[in-house]
Amino acid sequence: MKRVANRAAYVAPESIDTAADIFKSEENAVYLAGGTDLVPQFKYGLNRTDCLIDLQKIDELKQITETEAGILIGSMSTLADVTQSDLIERKLSPVARAAFSVASPQIRNMATIGGNILQQRRCLYLNQSEYWRESVPPCFKRGGSLCYQVPRAKICRAVYYSDLATVLLAYDAGVRVYDGKNRQILPLESVIRSHTRDEKIRYLITGFVIPAANVGAIGKFLKYRTRGAIDFALSNVGICFSPGNGADREPRGSIYAGAVSPAPLRLRRTENVLLKSVMEPEPIPDSVRYEIIRTGKEELESLSAPIRETTVSMKAKRKSLLIIVEALRDFLQHFE
Ligand SMILES: Cc1cc2nc3c(=O)[nH]c(=O)nc-3n(C[C@H](O)[C@H](O)[C@H](O)COP(=O)(O)OP(=O)(O)OC[C@H]3O[C@@H](n4cnc5c(N)ncnc54)[C@H](O)[C@@H]3O)c2cc1C
Repeated sequence: MKRVANRAAYVAPESIDTAADIFKSEENAVYLAGGTDLVPQFKYGLNRTDCLIDLQKIDELKQITETEAGILIGSMSTLADVTQSDLIERKLSPVARAAFSVASPQIRNMATIGGNILQQRRCLYLNQSEYWRESVPPCFKRGGSLCYQVPRAKICRAVYYSDLATVLLAYDAGVRVYDGKNRQILPLESVIRSHTRDEKIRYLITGFVIPAANVGAIGKFLKYRTRGAIDFALSNVGICFSPGNGADREPRGSIYAGAVSPAPLRLRRTENVLLKSVMEPEPIPDSVRYEIIRTGKEELESLSAPIRETTVSMKAKRKSLLIIVEALRDFLQHFE
C-alpha cells in the first residue's frame, strides 16, 4: 500500500473481502463511500485517518433487488439510485420520498444510503474551525466532558439528521454487515444506537433489508425544513403500518421522528393508539382521529430535545414539531 509522508493511504478494493481485510489490518482505517460527509470532516479537522478504503469499485454493494426476505438496498446505492428505482417507487415509496428530500441533485448523485445512516451528528459549536475549537475546552465529541449546547447535559446533544434513518426504522429495516469473518443482519435501531453514541463501527455495511412483511405496507415520510431544497430537516416523520395476515403475522404500526434529538425517537404511545384504531372494521370516527393526532403531538413535544442551530430560531425548531400532526392526518386518510 502506497503511503505519502503525513498523508493517509488510499485504497480502492474490488471485493468486500479485501476491503474488510484491509480495515482489520490498519489501525485507524475508515470506509469512504460518496465522501459528502467524511471529506468535509477531514477539512474541518473533525476526523483523521491513516487509511481511506474507497468502496466505489465494489459492484456487489450497489444492487437494489427483491428477494424472499424482502427488498435489499446495497449500501453503496446512491440516494439518486434509490429515488430512481422502479422497485422502490412501487413498493416502498416513502423511502424514495426520503431519499429525494435530501440536499440537491449533485449531493444525491454522490451520497450513498450507507453513508446517510452513518453521517456525523451536527452541532453549531462543533462545526466551527479547528482554531476556534482549540481555543475553548473540548466538548464530549472532542473527548471532553461538557456540552456547549446544554451545559448540564450528561451526553453530547448534537442532532442526528438522517432522513433515511427515520423511514427505514419505521419499515423495520435490518442492516447486513460483514466484519471480515461473519456476515450477519443487525436491527437498524442497534446500528444507529451505537453510531449516535459515537462508538466506532467496526464492520462494513453491505446493505439494508426491508422485511417482506413491510414491502408494500401503508407508509408515509414527511420532512419540514426552511427551504424546499438543500436544507437539513428541522424535523421529519416516518410511519409504516402493515395489517398482518391474520395467521402467523401480527399487525404492526411504527412511528419515528428525526432531526429533533441525538437519535431518532420512537413514538410508542402514539403507535399503540393508532394500531388499536386502524384495526377496527369501521371507519375511524373523528373523535378517535383527534385523539391519535393529539397523542402524537404531545409525545413528540415531550421527547424531543431541540438545540440551537445555525440560522434557525428555537421558536421555528419547536414549531417544526407540528410536522407530526400533518403526517398523522395524511396517513389517516388511508382509513377513510
Ligand atoms: C449540503 C448538504 C446537505 C445535506 N442535506 C441532508 C438532508 O437534508 N438530509 C440528510 O439525511 N442528509 C443530508 N446531508 C447528509 C448527506 O446525506 C450525507 O452526507 C450522505 O448521505 C453521506 O453519504 P456518503 O456516501 O457521502 O458517505 P461518506 O461521507 O463517504 O461516509 C459517511 C460515514 O459513513 C461511513 N460509511 C459509509 N459507507 C459505509 C459502509 N458501507 N460501511 C461502513 N461505513 C460506511 C464512512 O466511514 C463515514 O464515517 C447533506 C449533506 C450536505 C453536504
